[in-house]
Amino acid sequence: SLASSDHLRHVESMTQLPSGAGQISHLNAVILGEPLASEENDRVFPSHDFSRQALVSSPEQYWKMYKRSVEDPAGFWSEIASQFYWREKWYPEVYSENIDVTKGTVKFEWFKGARTNICYNAVDQNVEAGNGGKVAIYWEGNEPGDDGQLTYAELLEKVCQLANYLKHVGVQKGDAVVIYLPMLMELPITMLACARIGAVHSVVFAGFSAESLAQRIIDCKPKVVITCNAVKRGSKAIHLKEIVDSALIESVKNGVPVGLCLTFENQSAMKREDTKWTEGRDVWWQDVVPQFPTKCAVEWVDAEDPLFLLYTSGSTGKPKGVLHTAGGYMVYTATTFKYAFDYKPSDIYWCTADCGWITGHSYVTYGPLLNGATVVVFEGAPNYPDSGRCWDIVDKYKVTIFYTAPTLVRSLMREGNEYVTRYSRKSLRVLGSVGEPINPSAWRWFYNVVGDSQCPISDTWWQTETGGFMITPLPGAWPQKPGSATFPFFGVQPVIVDEKGNEIEGECSGYLCIKRSWPGAFRTLYGDHERYETTYFKPFAGYYFTGDGCSRDKDGYYWLTGRVDDVINVSGHRIGTAEVESALVSHPQCAEAAVVGVEHEIKGQGIYAFVTLVEGVPYSEELRKSLILIVRNQIGAFAAPDKIHWAPGLPKTRSGKIMRRILRKIASRQLDELGDTSTLADPSVVDQLIELRDC
Ligand code: ATP
Ligand code: MG
Repeated sequence: SLASSDHLRHVESMTQLPSGAGQISHLNAVILGEPLASEENDRVFPSHDFSRQALVSSPEQYWKMYKRSVEDPAGFWSEIASQFYWREKWYPEVYSENIDVTKGTVKFEWFKGARTNICYNAVDQNVEAGNGGKVAIYWEGNEPGDDGQLTYAELLEKVCQLANYLKHVGVQKGDAVVIYLPMLMELPITMLACARIGAVHSVVFAGFSAESLAQRIIDCKPKVVITCNAVKRGSKAIHLKEIVDSALIESVKNGVPVGLCLTFENQSAMKREDTKWTEGRDVWWQDVVPQFPTKCAVEWVDAEDPLFLLYTSGSTGKPKGVLHTAGGYMVYTATTFKYAFDYKPSDIYWCTADCGWITGHSYVTYGPLLNGATVVVFEGAPNYPDSGRCWDIVDKYKVTIFYTAPTLVRSLMREGNEYVTRYSRKSLRVLGSVGEPINPSAWRWFYNVVGDSQCPISDTWWQTETGGFMITPLPGAWPQKPGSATFPFFGVQPVIVDEKGNEIEGECSGYLCIKRSWPGAFRTLYGDHERYETTYFKPFAGYYFTGDGCSRDKDGYYWLTGRVDDVINVSGHRIGTAEVESALVSHPQCAEAAVVGVEHEIKGQGIYAFVTLVEGVPYSEELRKSLILIVRNQIGAFAAPDKIHWAPGLPKTRSGKIMRRILRKIASRQLDELGDTSTLADPSVVDQLIELRDC
C-alpha cells in the first residue's frame, strides 16, 4: 500500500540537496521572461529566512511527513482531524474505501459516524479561542473606496441571523439552497449559514445565464434561491435578479417551482425601487434577516453528510455536479491551505477566485476561515479602474499571500510592468497559481516582477472533484521549477499510467491517476453515481482518473501537460498543449496562446496555434515566422505549428480557462458543431475568430 515507490525514491534522493541554499542568483540576472539557459535543471530555492520560519522547512521534513501519510493514512489523518471539534468521534474506522470499480461500487468514506459542523469549526471555534475581534473578512468593492470588514464575532452573528431565517422559512438539514450572488460578504455568509443548519448549498457563479442557472435549479430542486438585485462589473451594472426571474420561470415550466427568492439589496449597484418584483415569492434580505437572533444552535451532521454541490467549470463539456461531504472536506481544505501557503496567524490572505468556483469554496471560504485567517473578498474586476487594481488592494490591506490564476497573470503581464512597479507590494511573502498550467515565462514574470524575486509560488494542481490541493509546492520545503506543480500533498498518491493503465516509473509522461482515496475527494456526481464511476473510475480500473496528462522529470517533479483529450499526436510524437503554448508565450510579443490538433494528411495531426499579442503589437508575417521559430528552437521541428491564427481574444470559461474544444472546431472548420457554449465568458470572441481565420 505504499505510494508510488518511485516518488518515494525521488524524494529520498532529493533530501541529499542542501535546503534553503539561498536564491539562485542567476535567476535574478536573467532578462525577465527569457528562458533560462538550461530550463530543466534550474531550480528556484526559497530564501534561507523563508525556509527557517516555514511549517515544513526542508525536503527531509516533507519526506518524513509524506511517508507517514501514505504508510499510515488512518494515523496521519486522525491526528490532524483531532485538532477540529467533533461532537462525536468517528467509529469504528477512520476511513474505508473501494476505488476499484471491478470490485463493486466505488465508495470513499472518511470519519464516518463522527458528528461535526464545518461552520462551527470555521467561525465559532475562532471566537471561542479568543479571536472574536480578529478581522475575518475585508471586503473590497468594485469602486475603490467602497469597502467593509467583519470580525469573527460579527461574522458569527451575521451567519446566525441568516441561519435562523432559513430555519424559519422551513429549510431543513439535507435541503438544497441555490446561491446566485456576486462577491459580496453575503456570499460566504450564506454558504456558512447553510452549512450551520446542514442545508446543502449549490453556488452558481453569478455570471451564468438564466438558462444555465435554471438547469442547475432543476437539477437540485432548492427550497430557496438567494441572490441580489444587481452588481456592478467595472462600470456596467448587471441585473442579477432579472436573470434569476427568468430562471425561476423556466424551472416552474420544468416542474420545479421555487417558493422563495431571498434578495439582497445591493445599493451601490441598484435601488430597491428599480428592481422587478414578484409579490409572494420575493423577499428583501434587509427586511427580514436582521430581525432574527444573532445566536443559532448548530446542526451536528455526520462527517459523510453532504455539504455542497458544485458544477465543474465546463472546459471539456457539460458541467458535472460534484458532491462533497462535511468531515473529510473540512479536514482536507484546512490542512492543504495551511501547508501550501505556509499559513501564519499574522497573514492577510487574498484569493482572487469567485466563490462560484471550487477555488472560492475551498480557498476563499472554508480553508482560510478554518485556520482563523483574515481573508480579502474582492467584488470588482482586476482591470478596473485600471490594471494596477490588484496591487493597489495588496498595498491597502497589506496582503501577504496572493493566490490567483495564470490567465490573470498573463493578462496583467501583457499590460506591462508599470502597473505593478507603481505599488510597493512589500507585504507579499507567498504567491499562488491555479486553474491551468502556468507557463514558465508567466511564472517568471509573476516571481520576478510581482514578487520582487522574494516570494515562492505555490502552483497548486487540483480539481473541483478533489476538493483541495493534490500536487503543490510547500513553499519553504522545495526548490521550485517554473511551471512544475512539484510534488504531491500529504496522503496523495499520484501515478502516471500508459494507455493500458500500467503504472510507469521514473522519468515519463502519460495519464495522471490517483491511487487510494483522500479525505477531500468528491463522493459522487449528484444523482448519477453511474456517471461518476464511468467518467472517473472505469478508464483505468483501480485508480481515480484525473483526465489530465502529466510528466515526471528525472528529479521526480510533476509537470501537468494539459487535458489528455487535448494531446496532439504529430507523426507519432505525443505533444501536450501546455508545452507548445509555453514556448509561444515565451516570445516577448506573444501574450497568450492556445494550441489544438487538426487533421493532417501526412503527419496524422498538425498543430494549429491561436495567439494573442501583447498590447499594441500588430500581427505581421515576420512575427508569424518568429513564433514558429521559437517553438522549433525550444521543443523541436516536429512541434512547429502548421498554422498561426491571430486571436485578439480567446474563448474562455467564466473561470478563465481556455476552451480548446471550441478552438478545435474553429480550426477544423466544423462550425456547426461548436457544442455547449453556455459556460463561455464572452461568446462574441468565437465570431471574431471565425472572421480572422484567413488572416
Ligand atoms: P470540466 O471538468 O467541466 O471540463 P474543469 O476541469 O476546467 O471543467 P475545474 O475542476 O475547475 O473544472 O478545473 C480542474 C482542471 O484545471 C484540472 O483538471 C486541470 O486540467 C486544470 N488545473 C487546475 N490547476 C492546475 C495547475 N496548477 N496546473 C495545471 N492544470 C491545472
Ligand atoms: Mg475537469
